[in-house]
Amino acid sequence: MEQIRSASKIWVAGHRGLVGSAILRALARQGFNNVVYRSHQELDLINQSAVESFYRTESPQFVFVAAAKVGGILFNQNYQADFLYENLAIASNIIHGAAEFGVAKLLYLGSSCIYPKLAPQPIKEESLLSGALEPTNEGYALAKIAGLKLCEKYHLQYEKRFISAMPTNLYGPHDNFHPHHSHVIPGMMRRFHEAKLRADREVVIWGSGTPRREFLFVDDLADALVLLMQGYEEVMHINVGSGEEITILELAQLMKETVGFGGTISCDSTKPDGTPRKVMDVSRINALGWKAKTPLREGLRIAYQWALENKVFE
Ligand code: GDP
Repeated sequence: MEQIRSASKIWVAGHRGLVGSAILRALARQGFNNVVYRSHQELDLINQSAVESFYRTESPQFVFVAAAKVGGILFNQNYQADFLYENLAIASNIIHGAAEFGVAKLLYLGSSCIYPKLAPQPIKEESLLSGALEPTNEGYALAKIAGLKLCEKYHLQYEKRFISAMPTNLYGPHDNFHPHHSHVIPGMMRRFHEAKLRADREVVIWGSGTPRREFLFVDDLADALVLLMQGYEEVMHINVGSGEEITILELAQLMKETVGFGGTISCDSTKPDGTPRKVMDVSRINALGWKAKTPLREGLRIAYQWALENKVFE
């Protein structure tokens, strides 16, 4: 069985995103020096013949699928058709292409939103498809479920080493800080930062503040993904999370301190809350010797520093 080595040709699909850029950093740290990637302009992953011609010319041996159309709760809710279609196309083109063009091993990235809205918490891998999905991101979740099932079926029918990992809510450098499309951490970071600059008295956060979420610093995730590429051969997808949860209001408090905002916090209950609680059972990956190491406070500090240095709020 071909194992990943420092000279192996590795394709990171989605290398400019939050996850893909962290995978590039982790590969570089660990001495993998034959990594290929293409920008969105150079390779449209929704176009099957373009993906096939990329496989034909580059022949990567190992593939990380970190490319996806992603967005926060409102963006997901309002553009469900686009989220479903684009993520389905990306998954089928890359996964089927990997089977056609002899890729040795592929790692597909899902998300914790693939699990049922009311799954028992902490969510185990086995909860997949045991109940209805959270409606605000059903399109995205369905596409991600199809992608991971595609890996599973190729694994079973053709003995392809296609594995998948389900990360929890992620944050860190290269996140999307868009005022409306972003996830809660970069969205809130912008809101608190702008309020600080204007010396506002109050910051209004979305929803009731009571939903509970788990967060993972993206560089911790990338270390886990390299480890899985090196040693995980199971058909079953695997959760990757910190195993720790916090309410949205507590997160807002921590964000206020990270950014240095001096005012108060209030909640806008007209905005959707999403699923009430989302924390993953990470015993499977912990048993492989991986554990999240960056505390939320420290990760937020690094992400804020990165955002300031890269002028994302300007
Ligand atoms: P989810 O984890 O899939 O529900 O997606 P998000 O990361 O977008 O939202 C998580 C939770 O944070 C939801 O309960 C939102 O209502 C809440 N939230 C509070 N403020 C914000 C914000 O500024 N942006 C976003 N995206 N969510 C926020």
